[in-house]
Amino acid sequence: MEYDVIVVGGGTAGCAAAYMLGKYNKKVLVIEKNSFLGGTMTSALVTPMMKTSGNSVNNEFFVEFIKRMKQKNAAITYIDGNEGWFNPEIAKIVLDEMMSDAKVEVLFNSEIVNINISGRYINSIDINNNLLSVSIDTKYVIDSTGNCDVGFLSNCEFINKNFENQPTNLRFIMGGIDLNSFSRWLRDFDEDRNVTSVANINNDIHLSTAYTWDLSKKWALKPLFDDAVDNNILENEDRNYFQVFTIPNMSGSLAFNCPRVYFSNDINVLDNFDLSKALQKGRRVIYRMSEFCKKYFPGFENAFISNIADSLGIRVSRRIKGKYIYTIDDLKSGKKFENPVVVSNYPVDIHSSKKEKSVLETQMQEYQLPIEALMAADIDNLFVAGRCLSADFQAQAALRIIPSCFSMGVGVAKHILTIM
Ligand SMILES: Cc1cc2nc3c(=O)[nH]c(=O)nc-3n(C[C@H](O)[C@H](O)[C@H](O)COP(=O)(O)OP(=O)(O)OC[C@H]3O[C@@H](n4cnc5c(N)ncnc54)[C@H](O)[C@@H]3O)c2cc1C
Repeated sequence: MEYDVIVVGGGTAGCAAAYMLGKYNKKVLVIEKNSFLGGTMTSALVTPMMKTSGNSVNNEFFVEFIKRMKQKNAAITYIDGNEGWFNPEIAKIVLDEMMSDAKVEVLFNSEIVNINISGRYINSIDINNNLLSVSIDTKYVIDSTGNCDVGFLSNCEFINKNFENQPTNLRFIMGGIDLNSFSRWLRDFDEDRNVTSVANINNDIHLSTAYTWDLSKKWALKPLFDDAVDNNILENEDRNYFQVFTIPNMSGSLAFNCPRVYFSNDINVLDNFDLSKALQKGRRVIYRMSEFCKKYFPGFENAFISNIADSLGIRVSRRIKGKYIYTIDDLKSGKKFENPVVVSNYPVDIHSSKKEKSVLETQMQEYQLPIEALMAADIDNLFVAGRCLSADFQAQAALRIIPSCFSMGVGVAKHILTIM
């Protein structure tokens, strides 16, 4: 078995890279540890995509994905112009179709166990296949595992030695909601249109609202959370972050961007013992939150938990040392590069586990990410795409959003096409 490119991790960035390479007739294999594609978008139920000025560079995958999702009534353009409101379950189907159309081979339920290197080149990758180890040869490797597992197994250097962290979220969906009555109540209850918005799009109600203790602003929903804590329906920490969005083609449902899960010390997201405790804790909080919603929100009388994410949503972990380390100064100064793979204005977005310590910088000017931040410094045929890019902690906090990960995948694919 020999491939032009092995993409390890069929998630957000990996799918974009694999699709582009397949479209240009490269022999591509995606190795994915889950039984479906999409990574954080599907397994962690992260929807919608954040809005960015970007999408002018390396947007081919974004455009094609949204086009196909819209054909299935599974994506909408929200009233703020954000085209990236999508249905995470239909996304699995559309991504399968896209890989198949691009003749990309996908291997599910498989994880890499060893990387065979000579000098500065990866020759082959060993995977587990039902307890048997199988070796697969390749010319190039893209590490789009989020946690940079290929880089780790290849003994690459990382740049996050002083491990800075952000909270994880275990997201969930509730169904059976009467969105007519909830949206009517919500629009009157919260008049802050920067927080709460309601729209009728394609004859469906769409909305978004939030409350967090991160920022000491006046949140309309705060008294409800306070009351629920006083009455032991929620625990104090449960109210640290609450955010909901409707989902196209899932009437009567809301996607919850919560609960955040952390312990007194931040969890180590690379330790399965910690992750397992976080998953168990998250599911307990989800149950409390669902009971809270049913008691306090009109329209939730018959609501139920319909999906709990398979995976914790991890915002940041290992980041490879690339041929270029992208910094917050590059980002804030809008430094220009000859070969930008991403152009965006999405702000630095650092969630903190401490009250009133989160950062969401607005008024960001456009910035560019160079391709060299996606090239491993130590291995010549290894590229990264997605949140494990070569960027410092603060810069990564702006670059990790879904549209930027798509652009990274496309950008790396185009680069490989030029050097093959
Ligand atoms: C809680 C949370 C909320 C967020 N909210 C938003 C939002 O609202 N909008 C937005 O645009 N962005 C949001 N983001 C950011 C964005 O969703 C992620 O940063 C982005 O999807 C990460 O993409 P990726 O390609 O780097 O990783 P992923 O999409 O996670 O893909 C990694 C893939 O690699 C696979 N994998 C991992 N290890 C291995 C291995 N060893 N072998 C084989 N396969 C492997 C995984 O199963 C997965 O499929 C959020 C992130 C989090 C965590």
